Amino acid sequence: MLLATSSSGQCINLAEDWKKPDLERIRTLNTFQCPVCNGNVTLKLGTKRIWHFSHQKDALCAGETEPESTYHLLGKKQLYHWLSIQNFTPEMERYFPLLKQRPDLFLPNLSTAFEFQCSTIPTQVFTKRTRSYRKANIDPLWILGAKRLSRSKNSHFYRLDELAFQSLRFSDDCDFSPYLIYFCPLTSSFTLLHSIIPYSSRTVLAATHSIPLKHTHFPFYMNELELPLLKNYYNDWIEKIITTRLYLHVNKDPAVVMMKKHLLNKGVQFNLFPIEAGIPSKHLFWFHSPAYVWQTCFLMEILQPLPIGTSFQFREVFRTFISLIKSYRIKTRSTLPDKNSHISFALMDYLQCLCRFGILKRIDVNHFSKERGLHFPESMTEVRQRMKEYFKM
Ligand SMILES: [Zn+2]
Repeated sequence: MLLATSSSGQCINLAEDWKKPDLERIRTLNTFQCPVCNGNVTLKLGTKRIWHFSHQKDALCAGETEPESTYHLLGKKQLYHWLSIQNFTPEMERYFPLLKQRPDLFLPNLSTAFEFQCSTIPTQVFTKRTRSYRKANIDPLWILGAKRLSRSKNSHFYRLDELAFQSLRFSDDCDFSPYLIYFCPLTSSFTLLHSIIPYSSRTVLAATHSIPLKHTHFPFYMNELELPLLKNYYNDWIEKIITTRLYLHVNKDPAVVMMKKHLLNKGVQFNLFPIEAGIPSKHLFWFHSPAYVWQTCFLMEILQPLPIGTSFQFREVFRTFISLIKSYRIKTRSTLPDKNSHISFALMDYLQCLCRFGILKRIDVNHFSKERGLHFPESMTEVRQRMKEYFKM
C-alpha cells in the first residue's frame, strides 16, 4: 500500500513526490499506522521495489485482500499522477468501512472507483465487490494489468479469463462496445481491447488500440477509436470456424460433446454442421458455450423441423430454446455488467442475422416465418465460400 498515517498524525501518500532523505527523517521520528486496521506498518524505502508500506507479518487487515506486486504499485502511482494533473483530486486507497472495500483510487466528484487488477481473484469475490460498489452508487472501473492480455499469433483472437469477461464495459452509444481497459506501468500506456465478440468461453475476436498515458484523458472517448478492418477481422473468424470443424472430433467441451451426439443421431456428420451456425452477433456474452454450439442447437432442434412457410412467435421459441439448451449442456452466464441486456437479446440478434441470410423473414416485432432450409456444407471450401457470402466479403 502507498498510504499510511504517521504517529505525529501526518497522512503520508507515497504516490506524491517525495525525496528519500525526507522520508528517512520522518521514518526515524515516527511509527506508521494503517488507516484501515490501525495496525503498525513499515515504510520500505528499498531500491528493488517501489517505496511502499507493508503490514507486519500475519497481520489481518480488511483493506488488504491480496498482496500487491511492484507492477501493481507502480501502476497505481502512475494512474494517481495521471488523474491528479487532470484536476480530478483522486483519493489514494480510500477505505469504505461499510463496503469493506478499498479501491486503489477513488474519484469523489465522479463517484468512480479505480481498481487496477493485476492478479487473478475468484469470480465470486469480483462479483461481490462490483455489486457492493454499485449498491453504494459507485461506478467500479476495472483496469486490468496489461500483462494479462494474451493474443493469438497473427490474428484478432485474444484469450480472456472469466475475470476479464466480468470486467467488460458495455455502452449503448459506443460502436466499439463492449471493451476492456488494460494498463501497463512499464510502458505507461493504456491498451483498449474493443469491438469484442466472444468465440468461445475463453476466446474472443477483438481489436486493440494503445494510447500513451500522457496522450489521453479520463473519461475515455471511445468513439474516437477506429473500427478494425472488417475484411481481416471476419476472415479470422471464418478461418477459426474452419479450424474448429477440422478438430471437432477431439473437442472435449461437454456442450460440444453433446452437440456431436445430437448431430450424429440426426444423421449429420458433426463437422458439417449448418453453415448458419457460428455467426458473430451482439450479446453473445450471455453464453459461456461457443456460439456455434448454441446456434446449432437452435437450428437443429427448432428451425430444422419447421416446414418452410411456417411462422412462429419469438417469445414461444425463446422459451423452448432455453429449456432445450440444458439437454445440450450449454452454459450461460448469469451475470454480466450490462444493465440493458438480457439473454433473449442474443437469440433475437441471431434471428435477425438469419433474416439477412434469407432463412427467416420478420413479419412483425414478435413474429418470424421460415423462408428456406439450412445449408449443410459438403466441404470446408464450401464453408469458407458461403460464410464469405454471408459476411459480404
Ligand atoms: Zn491494515
